[in-house]
Amino acid sequence: MSPPAACDVLVLGAGVIGCSTAWHAARLGARRVVVIDRRGVAEGTSAQSSGILRTHYSVAENVELARRSLTAFRDFGSYLGDPEADCGLALPGYLIVGDEGARSQAIRAALAQQRAMGIDAVEIDARQAREILPLLRTHDLAVFGFEKDAGYADPYLTATAFARAARRLGVEFRLGETVAGLTADGGRVTGARTDRASYAAGVTVCALNVWSNGVLEQLTGVGLPLVAERHEVMALEAPQPYLPRYPVLKDMTSPSMIYARCYGTRQLLVSAGLEGQPTSPDEDQADVPLDVVAQVGSEAAHRLPAFETAGVASTWTGLYDVTPDWNPVLGPLPGWDGLVVAFGFSGHGFKLSPAVGELLAQAALGLPTAVALAPYRCTRFAEGALLAGAYGKGAVS
Ligand SMILES: Cc1cc2nc3c(=O)[nH]c(=O)nc-3n(C[C@H](O)[C@H](O)[C@H](O)COP(=O)(O)OP(=O)(O)OC[C@H]3O[C@@H](n4cnc5c(N)ncnc54)[C@H](O)[C@@H]3O)c2cc1C
Repeated sequence: MSPPAACDVLVLGAGVIGCSTAWHAARLGARRVVVIDRRGVAEGTSAQSSGILRTHYSVAENVELARRSLTAFRDFGSYLGDPEADCGLALPGYLIVGDEGARSQAIRAALAQQRAMGIDAVEIDARQAREILPLLRTHDLAVFGFEKDAGYADPYLTATAFARAARRLGVEFRLGETVAGLTADGGRVTGARTDRASYAAGVTVCALNVWSNGVLEQLTGVGLPLVAERHEVMALEAPQPYLPRYPVLKDMTSPSMIYARCYGTRQLLVSAGLEGQPTSPDEDQADVPLDVVAQVGSEAAHRLPAFETAGVASTWTGLYDVTPDWNPVLGPLPGWDGLVVAFGFSGHGFKLSPAVGELLAQAALGLPTAVALAPYRCTRFAEGALLAGAYGKGAVS
């Protein structure tokens, strides 16, 4: 094997988090940045994402990361210094609905928290909600939260734009190369071994999502607080279209806490917002059982009666990297210098990717982080300092 190739920052994983981190590291002055992925850019879970962007969270730390990220998404070309960069942004707004009860209090509290942080997030009434979304059934709803400057973007476009901007700053991508393990000297991570080469690195950023355990457990001998979960997504088509101007919809009254958005120009992308089925990180695509289609489809049709006669246009599955509090672990791993980790995005990492990439790059380069990473430390689970959301387990957090 050839002598280790030396770099300042070695990023493992070319998903949207790895690509964002690599670009930020180069932008912040790292001289040699290398990204390794066993497949290609955005060919992991980033390719399966629903792409929803919102700052509606009950956990204040997440609101801040989402707010900073949304600013980047909204002016993506200028942010990347690449006028041709396009993240496929659509901002039809985010409408979250509930009935009376505990979740309604949580919705109102989250809206108030957003406003206190300068975000245009308001409670509207049923008539206003129907103006925004004429297909909406409202008779059994009591609370309607609306975030105007929210919507969705395209994770593939986003990750590849980060990668292109990174390459322009000299970042090297080693694609089709599989990380076999990290190398260490005492308590210091010194790089990684792949199926083709060894890399010596000043600092290694592990952005391997559900596959993080495979690499990090070899190093530490301890399993991560991380499980892979299967989530099903479907696109429905009805005679009446779900138009691009209609908002992303979150229905907190539905048994599966469904979320939905326009897909293409008229279809409805819909998925459940509850815990999924634990599965192997190596699962690629799985069948979406008919009972799941029937359940989620009927919940969508209850809230959007125009979809009572909808047909299924397509279905797919994706993997969430889930931690016990449904929030990511970001930053160093205690006891290991030269290593920064990012895993456990629990179904909501895309919308945080610009800010998270910046924070990881800052941590990797030993710079002060723009937002404190301490709340996202790995030891919070053992300490009982969870970042638990007010909505229970599910991807609103
Ligand atoms: C169905 C679904 C819907 C979602 N919807 C949303 C949403 O609406 N909004 C939102 O904000 N988030 C959403 N998410 C979450 C979001 O998509 C993810 O948090 C985000 O894309 C994760 O990016 P990543 O870079 O961490 O992981 P990935 O994109 O999975 O990247 C990890 C990379 O590591 C590589 N890799 C793995 N093992 C190795 C190895 N040994 N050697 C080399 N390379 C390796 C993989 O090939 C992969 O490219 C959703 C996720 C899913 C699955």
